[in-house]
Amino acid sequence: MTRCLYQGVEGIADASSTIPANKLGAPGLASETWDSTDPKLKEECGVVAIHGHPNAAREAYLGLYALQHRGQESAGIATADGHHLANIKGMGLVSEIFTDDVLAKLPGFMAIGHTRYSTTGDSALLNAQPIRVDSTKGLIAIAHNGNLVNLGNVRARLERAGAYFQTTSDSEIIVQLIAHSRAGSLVDAIADSLSQVEGAFSIVMMTRDRIFAARDPRGFRPLSMARIKNHHGPDTIVFASETCAFDLLRAEYERDVLPGELVMVTEDGVTSRQYATGFPQSSCIFEHVYFARPDSRIFGRWVQESRDQLGRQLARESGVAADVVVPVPDSGVTAALGYAEEAGIPFRMGLIRNHYVGRTFIEPEQRVRDFGVRLKLNPVHNLLDGKRVILIDDSIIRGTTSRKIVRMVRGAGAKEVHLRISCPPTISPCFYGVDTPSKRDLIAANKSIEEIRQFIEADSLAYLSLEGLLESCNGPEHTSYCTACYTGNYPTQWVDVEDILPAAAAF
Ligand code: SF4
Repeated sequence: MTRCLYQGVEGIADASSTIPANKLGAPGLASETWDSTDPKLKEECGVVAIHGHPNAAREAYLGLYALQHRGQESAGIATADGHHLANIKGMGLVSEIFTDDVLAKLPGFMAIGHTRYSTTGDSALLNAQPIRVDSTKGLIAIAHNGNLVNLGNVRARLERAGAYFQTTSDSEIIVQLIAHSRAGSLVDAIADSLSQVEGAFSIVMMTRDRIFAARDPRGFRPLSMARIKNHHGPDTIVFASETCAFDLLRAEYERDVLPGELVMVTEDGVTSRQYATGFPQSSCIFEHVYFARPDSRIFGRWVQESRDQLGRQLARESGVAADVVVPVPDSGVTAALGYAEEAGIPFRMGLIRNHYVGRTFIEPEQRVRDFGVRLKLNPVHNLLDGKRVILIDDSIIRGTTSRKIVRMVRGAGAKEVHLRISCPPTISPCFYGVDTPSKRDLIAANKSIEEIRQFIEADSLAYLSLEGLLESCNGPEHTSYCTACYTGNYPTQWVDVEDILPAAAAF
């Protein structure tokens, strides 16, 4: 069995030969540090859980398939049939790992799944999820989206109490806390454990016969619940990071798991308890700006609506005379549509993204790295030549990629290039599951907007205001949001002080 490639447990036949060798977790495929060649902040993770379906593994697979945008490094599915718990995970995309043969090795009416981009712990398969731990409370599989911020603290305490960690992932801390809890029942032990960790987590867990779903007390990451009606038996209950996963499963959205809520699903139905109360909600506003799919409903609001409003508000705040509005695809498209409509300027796809540049694109030599943005984006010359162009993007991180895009558009003949960003300047790193470079590498933490404009060589540059961002993402539920990467005001106490100290200018 090729342990570094693929893991199966509890009576699951060795199927390592089904995973192509090029999916090995080789250095270069899976980066441990922020990839400076990739302009975007990295997605976090996606989780899914299924209870009460005869082919739970296939349902979980479909759910993960819809959540692939949240992490492309590794994926895993664990299933249970009331007696046994099986777990298979691998490096790569969901569709590459879970062939029909592999899914056939995951029997059971319950499943949890995970697709991952690592934010804590290295990127080896060992840290791929679901993580399965044989604890004093029985077998538990866990899949986690988010990042704990007091993990060093808790981990040291657990190790002093005799805990032996099998991975470096912060998700295992939660399982070890459950194993070491003095609470009598499993559900009490889970509630007890979740109340001890600080940070961002949307979690699905599974034992041999139960599914649990929980969100951290501040509700940083999304997690929703849906139902598939079964006319000849109990309904199938589904949990997923984003509601777009429900559409593929034909599951009907029921509600969000609440911040601080622990939901349990058994053969007897769904029960719930609040394990934590009194924390102000601080859901991640960047889910609306960039991470989530526009066809998802996040924190009570359609992402498409938010992005459309971001673009409209941006047009109202920083309009400029121009001939065309051009998005930086794909994430800038919806905001650019809103901007163009509000400004009454034609929307044009003046940049084309190559969707086949893989996440595993290996850069064997520096000269390949120099292709950089040109591998991913190409200008449509006849749409840009001689035009005054408004470019819409959703963030500037280091500034180097934005400069390349501005140069590319100008190189295609644009007379003027005006860059508009559909959120405020990113001035602080995220500690809640989004992989950001440190403050010294965030251009907006070190330069004024005019200095950034000069650096990226645009004719003008404007960001959306914080008020405009909050207003655009304000839905019927009046969600309160975390905006720490734009303000430096962190909603939790435990953050890495090194990273929030004023950065020395690095440009
Ligand atoms: S710091 Fe930014 S990216 Fe991180 S949770 Fe808060 S809003 Fe989201």
